[in-house]
Amino acid sequence: MHAATSITDSDVLIVVDIQNDFCPGGALPVERGHEVIPAVNRHARLFRHVVLTQDWHTPGHHSFASRHAGRKAYEAITAPYGPQILWPDHCVQGTPGAAFHPDLDIPHAQLILRKGFRREIDSYSAFYENDHKTPTGLAGYLRERGFTRVFITGLAFDFCVRFSAEDARRTGFDVVVIEEGCRGIDVDNSVAATRQSFARNDILLIDAL
Ligand SMILES: [Zn+2]
Repeated sequence: MHAATSITDSDVLIVVDIQNDFCPGGALPVERGHEVIPAVNRHARLFRHVVLTQDWHTPGHHSFASRHAGRKAYEAITAPYGPQILWPDHCVQGTPGAAFHPDLDIPHAQLILRKGFRREIDSYSAFYENDHKTPTGLAGYLRERGFTRVFITGLAFDFCVRFSAEDARRTGFDVVVIEEGCRGIDVDNSVAATRQSFARNDILLIDAL
């Protein structure tokens, strides 16, 4: 085991968006996304403290291509808050697609953090919405709980995992991303860009635990 990966009580695992819509058969499938679930379940058992995130959009959410006339999914637009990729309608509040994948088995998770619930702004990150200013409250929660290092894994590597990791680091946490529990979407080389960002921002990327 890597020295950095001895888990202590001040560590927390954040499991990002293991939801039906991000798995094969869902509305915004990450290729082979469901294959990470056994590893994620195994990693979660190594932690006393686990947070789950859940993408949780209103119908007609601003990030949906269907909301923008003449636009297609996976196109980039400039939103009032900055660049935004348009997605198929996904993870609409209360729908089966927004539910956690049934194989996800982390009954000891202590918090479910929902994000992207404001109709006019997306939130890739579990910490800040896509304006990079509006906090979700997660940083405050983690600080009050006394956590100093966050491990992050889940879907998708190059979007919600990436932005959560960058914001966690920017907010002052030590950050480790566990790649075995991640799969990427790879829009315009976003997987390579994610690796570069992690290296540049002192975010440790490990293969497995
Ligand atoms: Zn979303």
